[in-house]
Amino acid sequence: MREANYKCPLCGNIIKSKIEIVKTIDISNLYRRVYKKDIDYIWKGMERLEYVLCRKCGLRFFDPIISGDDDFYKILLEDEWYYLHEGKTEYDYSRKFIKEKDRVLDIGAGRGAFRYYLSKKNYYQGLDLSSKAIELAKKDGVNVLPIPIEEFSAKNKEGFDVVSIFQVIEHISSLDKFLGSAIDCIAKGGLLIIATPNNDGFIKYVSNFYLNLPPHHTLHWDEKSLRSMAEKYNLEVVDVYREPVSSVHRQWWYNTMSMTYLNRLLRRDFRMIDYRFTYKIVHFAAKILARFYKLSGEHKRAFGQSIIVVCRKPDA
Ligand SMILES: [Zn+2]
Repeated sequence: MREANYKCPLCGNIIKSKIEIVKTIDISNLYRRVYKKDIDYIWKGMERLEYVLCRKCGLRFFDPIISGDDDFYKILLEDEWYYLHEGKTEYDYSRKFIKEKDRVLDIGAGRGAFRYYLSKKNYYQGLDLSSKAIELAKKDGVNVLPIPIEEFSAKNKEGFDVVSIFQVIEHISSLDKFLGSAIDCIAKGGLLIIATPNNDGFIKYVSNFYLNLPPHHTLHWDEKSLRSMAEKYNLEVVDVYREPVSSVHRQWWYNTMSMTYLNRLLRRDFRMIDYRFTYKIVHFAAKILARFYKLSGEHKRAFGQSIIVVCRKPDA
């Protein structure tokens, strides 16, 4: 079979091989199981997606890129916790880079929860395209507008000291337009702060993790690809923070690493979607192994869910 060519959405590199083929019906089935909802419409008849690694910039992506629409997020966000609790690590971490009178643009702001981590003297502008998020922000009196950054940036060039993009760049289908517009809004010498799932952490070993698959996550980032992103847009990397394994993810981390160990022992290859009949057996055995592995305290030396990168736009 001839391999297709894939174009990297970050650096434009042409890639000849894929890592894995993912059937869209398998992803739909995971959503059906968890949410009891049908997301088949999102694939527009596409039967398979190909998972590709760009060795030049480090980005991993699904080809073609298919991301969620407002209806899809209504399904996902029925769980209100997603809005209430997401982002605490990046909010806490990022606030120390923000000076008291800085103007802050928060792209993909959700209900605008980051506002509460800033000083009252900060001007805060959130943007979010989810109707549910806008409704919640309005209720709280937080300034969040339903305008795409590509449109917003036209009238707000260099208008902000800090642009934050938390848990967004893994969802984007037109990456270059999105990042270019966001960076246009940063004043000279200002900061771009990005938080995204760390695909160099344990999540890269989790099978059937529908939240790290399209249509929710279409791009998989890590430190290498984030540094490539900074280089592409002529930004200086000021800081990189890889979140440790959080207490809520500790058990999950041990289960995952035990599963990875057993897979290697049994020479079972890792698959993002794993419906093989041995999956349940190995998964069960991994849970038992994890009870003992937990005694090692190994998670303290490992990386958790998110990575945060802080970049500065040049002064001139
Ligand atoms: Zn690339």
